[in-house]
Amino acid sequence: MNLKNKNLFLQKSLINGEFIKSNKKYSVSNPTNGEEIGTIPILNGKEIEKAITSSGEAFKKFKNFNAQEKSNILKKWHQLILENIDDLASILTLEQGKPLSEAKGEILYGASFVEFYAHEALRISGENLTSHKLNHKIITQKEAIGVVGAITPWNFPSAMITRKVAPAIAAGCSVILKPSELTPFSALALGILAIEAGFPAGLLNIVTGDADEIGKEFCANNLVKKISFTGSTHVGKLLAAGAGANLKKLSLELGGSAPFIILKDANQTLALKALMHAKFRNGGQACTCVNRIFIAKEIHDEFLEKFTLEVKKLKVGDGFDEKNNIGPMINEKAILKVERLIKDALEKGAKCEIGGNKIKEQFFSPTILTNIASDMDIAHEEIFGALAAIQKFSSIDEVITKANDTNYGLGSYIFGQNLNDILKISNALEFGMVAINEESFATSLAPFGGVKDSGFGREGSHLGIEEFLQIKTLHINFN
Ligand code: NAP
Repeated sequence: MNLKNKNLFLQKSLINGEFIKSNKKYSVSNPTNGEEIGTIPILNGKEIEKAITSSGEAFKKFKNFNAQEKSNILKKWHQLILENIDDLASILTLEQGKPLSEAKGEILYGASFVEFYAHEALRISGENLTSHKLNHKIITQKEAIGVVGAITPWNFPSAMITRKVAPAIAAGCSVILKPSELTPFSALALGILAIEAGFPAGLLNIVTGDADEIGKEFCANNLVKKISFTGSTHVGKLLAAGAGANLKKLSLELGGSAPFIILKDANQTLALKALMHAKFRNGGQACTCVNRIFIAKEIHDEFLEKFTLEVKKLKVGDGFDEKNNIGPMINEKAILKVERLIKDALEKGAKCEIGGNKIKEQFFSPTILTNIASDMDIAHEEIFGALAAIQKFSSIDEVITKANDTNYGLGSYIFGQNLNDILKISNALEFGMVAINEESFATSLAPFGGVKDSGFGREGSHLGIEEFLQIKTLHINFN
């Protein structure tokens, strides 16, 4: 890997401002060719505890920083991320596999949260409420909650970190971060830039090692006051049980099963462009990626033909080769899951229109299945791959029922022209986000998050910082 700033690739953990090694380590490999990229420390219980203690010490000092000082270190971090965008994107593509242009897009998206919360740090305010007595005031003030334990996934190894760390720091919290074992180098590169930006020692610690052990310590350690998790619903529920036992505040950004509804009067060109993006970006490995496509019966065949032509054009291969639109899947387990879903669907009557097979190693061909029915696993499970599963519908009521027939409730999409139909569907959808004639939810300006098994809490917008604040009420008698 050719980095301009070679220091950004570090095979260590970050504790109390120091980058540390460990005798025990694990190997991280490139999903494109299976070769080892480097190794990462497996910290022991004492080292994790020490990291949390240093986060606690950092919080005590940091809460005395004024708003402008908090804003300034985030502004500096933002500037350094942008200055190093090429290297950060290369590290991301190397360990995660997504095409380099998408990796750059992720770095920019991630940086936008740092910029947004650098401004938001200056706007934390309380209220002066109407009192129940004369000569008496009720005032609320918002305070940083304390040490935050953050756990992030591999599919967006950079943006899922800044989306948590930036609002936490803006609120005045310290953060102890555990990135995915599959993509730790993007996290550490951000850590290096944070130190360079002037983050005091311990304000951002990055711990690596056994996920279960670290998660349990976050839940049990009294210094950690909040856990912010992005990942699978299964792990989210484990953390909720652990955090609940100690009454820790919790945000959970979990899995999704986005429906993509194309009404009979939809602008098909717009819907097609959006579907290509929302289904195949990151090789289909995003929580808001389209999981279930519903096409009105009147336009099903016509739209399918256009969609198939577009899918045929997709190029699968090494993310560093700019002609490719789709990189490798993250690991063998992910491929096996897609293969299982295809087999089950075909056995129950689905039709494979294109693709359906592994190309080589971790590369899978973009696939379209039609005739999907509700008894198939693919109608209920999160696919997390470049596999499009299509169902036909006859009425608005039918598509609402089908779209809501999932435990997940993160992103959803509607394409159509009739305002009545769109409002009827968007009101009925049990999802945290609805994109209407729009392909993406990715902006720091809007709240991002789900309902049902997709979790709770919001990231982004002015609401994102509230997750890291708590309210103190002052009752003031001035007789
Ligand atoms: P995952 O297996 O739940 O892992 C997520 C993180 O949790 C990783 O850092 C992982 O560490 C850690 N982890 C695993 N077991 C743990 C445990 N017992 N205790 C504490 N932490 C534990 O999910 P993933 O496969 O990385 O990510 C894909 C999932 O994330 C999908 O379901 C996707 O929809 C969801 N996601 C949601 C959003 C959103 O905003 N809603 C965004 C992106 C992804 P190791 O990697 O070291 O095992």
